[in-house]
Amino acid sequence: MKSIPSFGIPPKAPWITFDADCSAGGFLSFYYSESFTRVPIRSVSRILDNKSDPNLETKTYGLFSTCSKRMRKAVIKNRIGIICFVTRFKGSLCIPGYYHLKWYTPSGFAKDDFCLAADNICFVNDPIPLSSIKKGKVFRGFHGITEGEVTRICQTLHEKGDRTSLYLEEIHRAEHLNLRQTGFRYSNFNRKEPFDWDAGVSILKKEYGEHSTQIITNKSPTDKWCCSKCGNISISKSLLKICPKCGEYAALKPIKL
Ligand SMILES: [Zn+2]
Repeated sequence: MKSIPSFGIPPKAPWITFDADCSAGGFLSFYYSESFTRVPIRSVSRILDNKSDPNLETKTYGLFSTCSKRMRKAVIKNRIGIICFVTRFKGSLCIPGYYHLKWYTPSGFAKDDFCLAADNICFVNDPIPLSSIKKGKVFRGFHGITEGEVTRICQTLHEKGDRTSLYLEEIHRAEHLNLRQTGFRYSNFNRKEPFDWDAGVSILKKEYGEHSTQIITNKSPTDKWCCSKCGNISISKSLLKICPKCGEYAALKPIKL
C-alpha cells in the first residue's frame, strides 16, 4: 500500500488557500489537444512539446510545465477563481471544461510564476462551442471573461455532466501509445512514468521555499537546451524543469543561434 505523503498534496504545505474574487470574473485559457482521442485531452503526443498541463490527474497547472506563466501570474494578481479551458477539437474551437481554483504556491523555479491547484474540475464529453461565448476564429493565450460568462459556462458544463474520468482514461491511453511508439510516455521529458501526485510531490520538494528570483525564458531559439550539470543537449519546444538526461532541477539553459 502506498503511504500518504504529509507534504505536497493540497491542502497540505506548500499549498496556500487562494482567496479568489468572484466579481473579477474568470479566464479563458488555450491548450493544444489530441486529435485522435474521444475527448480533447491535452496533447501528450505533440512533437518535441509533449504537454503535461493542464494536468487533470492532479487538478494542477504549472507544477510540471513552464507554459502559460503569464496566465498564472495574472490569475494571482487579479484573484481569478475560474479558468475555463479552450482548445481546437474536430476543426473548431470549444470549451471542454473548467478549473475552480482553491490553492496556489509560489514557484521555486521561476520569478513571478505560481503553481495553481483546483478543488473542483468539470470536463465534458460534448464541449461547448466557443462561438456561443465569444466571436472570432483565432484564439491563443488567455482572455478575461465576465462573472456572468463564467456562470453561464460553468452551468452549461455541469448540465452536460462531468466526464473527467473519460479524459483521464484517454490521457492514459495516449500515454500508452507513446510508450509503445517511443519507449516513453513523454519522450521529450525522457519520462516513462505518468505526471501524477508522486511526480508532483517530488517536484514540490525541490520547489518549496523562497519564491525564485530566476528570470527564465520558456523558449530556446534553437529548441535546444544544455544542462549545466551533465552537459547533455536536449531538444524541446519549451523549457523543462528537470534535465531529461540526469534529472537535475533548474539546470537547462537555452542554446542560442
Ligand atoms: Zn543534466
